[in-house]
Amino acid sequence: MRLSQSFIPTLKETPAEAQIVSHRLMLRAGLVRQTSSGIYAWLPAGLRALRNIERIVREEQNRAGAQELLMPTIQPAELWRESGRYEEYGREMLRITDRHEREMLYGPTNEEMVTDLARQSLRSYRDLPQMFYHIQWKFRDEVRPRFGVMRGREFLMKDAYSIDLDHAGAVVSYRRQMLAYMRTFQRLGLKAIPMAADTGPIGGELSHEFIILAPTGESQVYFDAAFEEIDYTSDALSGQSPEELLRFFETMTSHYAATDEKHDPASWERIASARRREGRGIEVGHIFYFGTKYSAAMGFSVAGPDGRPVHPEMGSYGIGVSRLVGAVIEASHDEAGIIWPDSVAPFHAAILNLKPGDPVCDALSERIYAQAPGSMLYDDRQDRAGAKFADADLMGHPWQIVVGPRGAAADRVELKRRATGERQDVAAADALARIG
Ligand code: ATP
Ligand code: MG
Repeated sequence: MRLSQSFIPTLKETPAEAQIVSHRLMLRAGLVRQTSSGIYAWLPAGLRALRNIERIVREEQNRAGAQELLMPTIQPAELWRESGRYEEYGREMLRITDRHEREMLYGPTNEEMVTDLARQSLRSYRDLPQMFYHIQWKFRDEVRPRFGVMRGREFLMKDAYSIDLDHAGAVVSYRRQMLAYMRTFQRLGLKAIPMAADTGPIGGELSHEFIILAPTGESQVYFDAAFEEIDYTSDALSGQSPEELLRFFETMTSHYAATDEKHDPASWERIASARRREGRGIEVGHIFYFGTKYSAAMGFSVAGPDGRPVHPEMGSYGIGVSRLVGAVIEASHDEAGIIWPDSVAPFHAAILNLKPGDPVCDALSERIYAQAPGSMLYDDRQDRAGAKFADADLMGHPWQIVVGPRGAAADRVELKRRATGERQDVAAADALARIG
């Protein structure tokens, strides 16, 4: 994409309304704009980051055996009356009346709809287990939307649902999702730690929040260094058999990890001091096992092996996809701007033409750009070199390919790695191969 022709409105000044660094940087780097309180338009560069996160979430859900579908944002109130949550959910729910005076709502989550879909088509224990997910916009009328996309009112969530015949099956589904989460966050360049959590309005008995470390996180967290040492993406951890998932789950829950609400100083003191880690954390995912709460309330049963009806055991699994864009930035930035992990970056690299109009710089920049993949941004603007450096650092591309008049005359460019600041002078022909 040519920067001179693209809609990436960067800002030099720090927007006064933004209290935390990710919000400031998302506005300054031209990723999003607020359209009303807690509601954002995703501009081209922001959308690319959002889509990259979605892709990784989707790949790991598919790998865990979850099937993708897409449920609507608008739901009928009747379903929520059946579960008893229509009144219970309170003012966070956006309620709508259609032209026939039918009560509708903009979905804050989908347990009721999933249970309704399941009861229409799943009749026998042979139809189970099932696990499916969608990536869809949600609306929650938060009292205090803040921190940009981190606590919005309209936000993108991946929500998955598992349906098993019995408790043993449901627990395997839960552990499979837990593994998928650890892999997802690792691929996003984040250190995530599962922490036992309260179940809140979703209800149920087994629940974990996934917290990532970032200096500006809302809660104080304490954990054992063991979490830093596991490679969740390793194929040795296939996650296929229930026995293996049990071992994985035991590892996850045997090491100490707690938010300040659940912190237990006595257990903490028992961990060797060299292994104690603490910091600030942001919730990026939350998983629940809630048993028959919805299947029983909404009359969903299947014929069991002995022919008698059984209420299936269910769980739900959320990831804040749009919140993750902010969370990744909270975890990875410096004074100059965003430092995107390779897997999330809107653009893998940018070509900075330091002297547009100069035939040698133009020709070399164009040549590299023509050979580059679609994730290349070409800064071809008529602008000062200093402004280009500042914008590239602000936007956070993992690599910068700097084309200046002196180097270009010798067919050489400078590569800068954003994360380390390391620079190297390379032959122009090697530049693309070097950045991978
Ligand atoms: P929180 O405690 O942050 O309010 P929650 O517990 O209400 O979140 P869940 O119902 O567990 O949220 O939703 C699953 C995920 O969706 C959360 O882990 C979070 O990442 C994301 N999420 C929830 N509320 C918002 C919001 N208002 N804006 C952006 N993302 C959100
Ligand atoms: Mg939660």
